[in-house]
Amino acid sequence: MIIQEFLDTNITYLSGVGPKRAELLNKELNIFTFRDLLYYFPYKYIDRTRFYKIAELDPELPFVQVKGVIKGYSAEGHGPGKRLVADFQDETGTIKLVWFKGGKWITGSYDPGVEFIVFGKPSVFNGMINIIHPEIDSADKMAESLNSALQAQYSTTEKLKNHFLTSKTIGKLTGNLLKQLKFRIPETLPPYLVSKYRLMDLHESLHKIHFPENPEELERARYRLKFEELFYIQLNLLRFKTNRSLKHKGFVFSTVGDNFNNFYFNNLPFALTNAQKRVMKEIRKDLGSGKQMNRLLQGDVGSGKTLVALMSMLIAIDNGYQACIMAPTEILANQHYQTISKLLKGIDIKICLLTGSSKRASRKFIAESLLDSSLNILIGTHALLEENVQFRNLGLAIIDEQHRFGVEQRARLWQKNFNPPHVLVMTATPIPRTLAMTLYGDLDVSVIDEMPPGRVPVKTMHFNDSERNKVFGFIRKQIAEHRQIYFVYPLIRESENMDYKDLEDGWDTISRVFPPPEYCISIVHGKMTPADKEASMKLFKDGHAQILIATTVIEVGVDIPNATVMVIESAERFGLSQLHQLRGRVGRGADQSYCILISSDKLSREAVKRIEVMIMTNDGFEIAEKDLQLRGPGDIEGTLQSGIPFDLKIANLGKDGQLIEYVRNIAENILASDPTLDDNQNTIFKTELKRLFSKRQSWSDIS
Ligand code: ADP
Ligand code: MG
Repeated sequence: MIIQEFLDTNITYLSGVGPKRAELLNKELNIFTFRDLLYYFPYKYIDRTRFYKIAELDPELPFVQVKGVIKGYSAEGHGPGKRLVADFQDETGTIKLVWFKGGKWITGSYDPGVEFIVFGKPSVFNGMINIIHPEIDSADKMAESLNSALQAQYSTTEKLKNHFLTSKTIGKLTGNLLKQLKFRIPETLPPYLVSKYRLMDLHESLHKIHFPENPEELERARYRLKFEELFYIQLNLLRFKTNRSLKHKGFVFSTVGDNFNNFYFNNLPFALTNAQKRVMKEIRKDLGSGKQMNRLLQGDVGSGKTLVALMSMLIAIDNGYQACIMAPTEILANQHYQTISKLLKGIDIKICLLTGSSKRASRKFIAESLLDSSLNILIGTHALLEENVQFRNLGLAIIDEQHRFGVEQRARLWQKNFNPPHVLVMTATPIPRTLAMTLYGDLDVSVIDEMPPGRVPVKTMHFNDSERNKVFGFIRKQIAEHRQIYFVYPLIRESENMDYKDLEDGWDTISRVFPPPEYCISIVHGKMTPADKEASMKLFKDGHAQILIATTVIEVGVDIPNATVMVIESAERFGLSQLHQLRGRVGRGADQSYCILISSDKLSREAVKRIEVMIMTNDGFEIAEKDLQLRGPGDIEGTLQSGIPFDLKIANLGKDGQLIEYVRNIAENILASDPTLDDNQNTIFKTELKRLFSKRQSWSDIS
């Protein structure tokens, strides 16, 4: 326990820190305790095994180290160019060491004639090799110091550097801390795991990650620390899953009854795709299992998730329960309401729509018919979460386009019943499998990986701003063939420091190029009232407007088969998954559709890559993988929603996919044989889980 107290000691008390630096470390790096400092890992290492001879130096080299002696100092230049210069020599030649500040301290610390090791980046000035502001160590001190061959580099901030908390200082502080340790740092994994998976033990890993002696050692330390970090995330997620199924029984939907059959045999307008069939089987199995379903349904835009949702709801209704769908926007909720009402034509099922703009009277009606169970299906937005929305017996809750909802909102829906309903979460954002293991690690996953037949893949093209007239010409032709066009803009109003084409600007241009009365243009953006949005959408949906100008509010789920062209302005501004979502708005009918990316002609490398990927493939999963490689997972979904309440210190959800799968398996096996983790050798897991996750755990009980 004493060691734990030591690790929990406030960082102020570490020698070399003190209150002022402590405050900076708190604020800038989130380092509050000794433990935090130990777990502040280097972001890279510089190889210091190699010494260069002065004759070998050239300005192309990165950091180098040279052993030699200072021959003498001189002051050169004046004003801001004033500097202290030392001639530094080995048996092969001389270079200059240069300082623009700290002169007195330098000449007092490094005496001429003594052997030093100089470390820095070579550059050229006046035809001589210079090293500006080198790091200097005495040659013999370095040999015995904790300083290792691979020198750790820590990221710091300007503020920290201004207070001399450089990467080197952080390394030193960490070194001090490790030297003060009087005990071995206790294991956070049980011995049987450490030995079975041949892990370096924690004590050693925490030393070697900061002061590795060679690359192999460093690799083993990194592996051990990543293993542990990812393992506990998976164990945490899987334990919730296990607990949930231990705690709650699910409603058993044992029959497929009249409503389902009636719909399936009489109303279903087409044959299900094989993927839809497979997913329905998976869902039916869950619904009949006696366990509460918590399933994520992934399927690219247009893959036909709505139908799966509807059929699942019919099963709930056939078994005497109510069902609901929550969508992220009114437009979408509305659309679901219409689609589903149409699909259920002639079948005696009561459906209502509840959104923020529902009138008092209809709210009252909904509340009443929910409670007397005359209402079978409620479709709506966040409004469903309001307290006065009470179901008589909610059996299935469906959440569409999950990434728009936080986990806490899922939780509130889940609590609508004394017994939790089955939960189906649907997302059109394809997520690479290993990332889904973390982001939705407590859910079971179904995938619709097949498009309904007869779809013609969308053609994607890229144009520069200056080629806009070509695009307009193309659009004119499409409109002449009675097709409809989306124009999407990243912003509503031009902001001072971004010159992205904005919506209003776009409206000006487009309405000049496509003037009334020949053309009718509709507009939708986030700042409009729901009623105005609705009216604009309707104008486009009914085919009166040929062009819809919009911000990304139309990103999700809008289904207008006659729209065949998606023009994305300032395409460089959007992420890959967003571009893909937008493109998914077209290609919904039998006609050839087009996605036109317009960008400025000065593009970053990443932007060029994104555009290339978009042109190359229509496969959402492939795009998601590429996106993950290009951006890392951080942006794909906010950490808060991802089931990880902290920043990863060493692992990378994008790059460590294999390891994630590996440790998830291990965690699964452990829970399979010891679901409550009460086995003696496993109690250490509980201690660690508590320490790591207790701060933000409350929501996690839920799906
Ligand atoms: P999403 O998965 O993006 O929510 P939707 O459920 O909106 O996709 O379906 C997209 C379109 O495909 C809809 O017009 C729907 O009627 C149609 N669709 C769905 N399933 C099939 C199928 N099996 N065969 C043909 N068309 C289908
Ligand atoms: Mg949908």
